[in-house]
Amino acid sequence: PGPAEELLRIRGLQVVFDGFRALDGVDLTVGKGELRFLIGPNGAGKTTLIDVITGLTRPAAGSVKFGGVELVGRKEHKIVRLGIGRTFQTSVVFEELTVVENLDLAASFRRPLRSLLRQRRGVDEVVAQALETIGLTELADRPAGVLSHGQRQWLEIGMLLAQRPKLLLLDEPVAGMSRDERERTGRLLTEIAKDHTVIVVEHDMEFLRRYASQVTVLHEGKVLVEGDVAQVSADPRVQEVYLGR
Ligand code: ADP
Repeated sequence: PGPAEELLRIRGLQVVFDGFRALDGVDLTVGKGELRFLIGPNGAGKTTLIDVITGLTRPAAGSVKFGGVELVGRKEHKIVRLGIGRTFQTSVVFEELTVVENLDLAASFRRPLRSLLRQRRGVDEVVAQALETIGLTELADRPAGVLSHGQRQWLEIGMLLAQRPKLLLLDEPVAGMSRDERERTGRLLTEIAKDHTVIVVEHDMEFLRRYASQVTVLHEGKVLVEGDVAQVSADPRVQEVYLGR
């Protein structure tokens, strides 16, 4: 395959908090269908970058183009409607609702209320598909409160999928998971990346080695190194700042 069509194009991004440059001239290009990992030590600016893409934080300078559309200056809900979904480190699952009800609710978020009834059938299909992708079909009618930590993380990913995003931004999806759950999450991300673009913030190097193709390393608000996982983990600058060697 030739070079992927560009989906996200970030240029010269700067975020300043009380004079401190949390992002200091970040350029990042992500192609359609990529599974891109974003790593870097604590305070590198990873969350800030996700916050800018999703409209939560306004940059002091720079541009974020998504499919050619400028995102800087747009409101969060508008950005969601353009097809960008993210997970947060805090859970958004409703424990009293069943798994399928959580997905149903998520599927309805993106749509204007008046079109909900009209699109009812479409929503069901999207929900059924999300349920299958995350592998929770057998637990569809159980309250989300009974799910294990791993299953709950998958449900959150399913809730994003139900909103039919083009780009998913996942913040440490395997944090706190068992080895088996990590494996399953890795396969899930690979599956999702077949028809979505995915950016994953992740610290676990073992997980990266197994599942990452392209990796971007942030350090002190700048892109330090970018490349495939072998190149990046062999880079002395990365070993110095990230792996602490
Ligand atoms: P990472 O996600 O890579 O750990 P963050 O993006 O959370 O890094 O933070 C980057 C830097 O910006 C850190 O030094 C952090 O303390 C600072 N920072 C983040 N958010 C704010 C804020 N709302 N106000 C002030 N400083 C912030």
